Amino acid sequence: MAQEKRKRQKKVYRRHDRNPMPMLPPDVRAKTFKEFTFGYGHTVAKDEAFRCLLCNRPTCVESCPVENDMPKWIEAIQQNRVFDAYKILRQTSPFSSVCGRVCPVDRLCESTCVLTFKDNGLSVAIGALERFVADSVRTSGIEWVDEKEPPTGKKVAVIGAGPAGLAAAYFLARKGHSVTIFEALPYTGGVMRYGIPEPRLTREALDYEIELIKKLGVEIKTGVIIGEDITINDLRRDYDAIFIGVGSGRGKKMGIPGEDLKGVYTAIGFLMKVNTGEVHPLLAPDEDVEIPKGKRVAVIGGGFTAVDCAIVSIRLGNETHVVYRRTRDTSSARDEEWDHLAEEGCHLHWLTQPVEVIGNEKGEVVGLKCIKMELVPDEKGGRPRPKPIEGSEHTIECDVVIMAVGQGDNPTAYKNVEGLAIDKWNNLSTVDKRYRTNIEGIFAGGDVVNGGDTVVTAIRHGRDAADAIHEYLMTGKWEYEKEN
Ligand code: FAD
Repeated sequence: MAQEKRKRQKKVYRRHDRNPMPMLPPDVRAKTFKEFTFGYGHTVAKDEAFRCLLCNRPTCVESCPVENDMPKWIEAIQQNRVFDAYKILRQTSPFSSVCGRVCPVDRLCESTCVLTFKDNGLSVAIGALERFVADSVRTSGIEWVDEKEPPTGKKVAVIGAGPAGLAAAYFLARKGHSVTIFEALPYTGGVMRYGIPEPRLTREALDYEIELIKKLGVEIKTGVIIGEDITINDLRRDYDAIFIGVGSGRGKKMGIPGEDLKGVYTAIGFLMKVNTGEVHPLLAPDEDVEIPKGKRVAVIGGGFTAVDCAIVSIRLGNETHVVYRRTRDTSSARDEEWDHLAEEGCHLHWLTQPVEVIGNEKGEVVGLKCIKMELVPDEKGGRPRPKPIEGSEHTIECDVVIMAVGQGDNPTAYKNVEGLAIDKWNNLSTVDKRYRTNIEGIFAGGDVVNGGDTVVTAIRHGRDAADAIHEYLMTGKWEYEKEN
């Protein structure tokens, strides 16, 4: 019926009147760890929902890693059926509150919105609408309960309570399986809690959606390091299947002179200390982070993590510099994120490669020696490569250096599992298309498989692995199908 009605409606292309997301002014948000975007109210959300053409063959669905059914849930907003919209979203993902805030929508769902195809049109604000739906349900105070199948009697152990592990647990529990999550840290959420800072993701929203997973009966044991406190072999005795979702989140430095000086931190060590109060040795070994306040901080990198370090550093009252060897256009962070940082007074140094951290006689950081770069065509036809410009060495004066240059492997959980195929980066990209490892009953997904991507991709891995685990538990069939 709804489909029929959609066909009959005359399409009105509102290409340019996208509703802006209200946010705190720069001088206010630079001083608070509170979330800096407000989210849409109901009237604005409904108006934005009406910009959506409810396409019959929606390209936005294809470019969403979890294939959220935009026409269906956005139509529900148009019709004031916000709870129905949430129910539809929860068929594909348990983390709408999170994805509505942190997904890089400009290169995912929103990048293919039909409104962008002509006249520099602006996409429907899909991320903001998803957040609106989840926030409306949460703040309504009405108890949300997801439907689930009757118990199957099967037991699954999930290792890691990041988005991959939590999503796997959610979908498995909805299929009636009994799920226990083992998490090394004293808290749940993985990078969503210890990495992404509060100004971008309020913990009320994160906690709410994790609580909904627990309400399905999922048990979460925190503070248990698999591979140290218990082994995967122990778990195999007690559980019918295992999902490994341990991420790839160990803090990493660059390998330049001076990086062992006091005041040089990995992004993970720094963010973990600020976000949770302590640095866990599993993910940031030997890091004694002293939170800088009122200092000069240089953040190295150009992705999500560098942006998060800069957001936090500014709010701690530091003069903050971001140093990146490529250009703003070729960075992986969003354009608007750089705009926000610039408005908050952050100094952005593009085409700048750090070569050495300079220290004083007390072993403290006093500066970051850098060289300017230019982008030159890549002989192999790849993206332009940065090349040093001779004689352009200079020093950025600073007291603290934070290296946000990617994360390293964390194979503690699985490194001693006999016969398990581990790749050359110590990760599990060796899984097949259904997230099966080469060992019967053991599955893996999220950053531990792809080496580091997005929250929404980790959720998709967890969901697809849950489907494969369900099939395995109900049929006993196991066919590892890795093409090499
Ligand atoms: P993780 O989130 O890393 O979770 C893995 C969990 O496993 C952790 O809780 C860990 O403690 C636990 N674990 C590890 N080893 C063991 C063990 N031996 N025993 C038990 N438990 C263990 N993506 C976005 O989409 N948007 C963003 O804005 C964004 N910002 C980011 C900011 C930062 C600072 C970082 C680092 C990443 C960001 N990402 C972002 C990427 C995204 O967070 C990751 O891709 C995603 O969290 C991966 O999920 P995961 O479940 O695979 O791993």
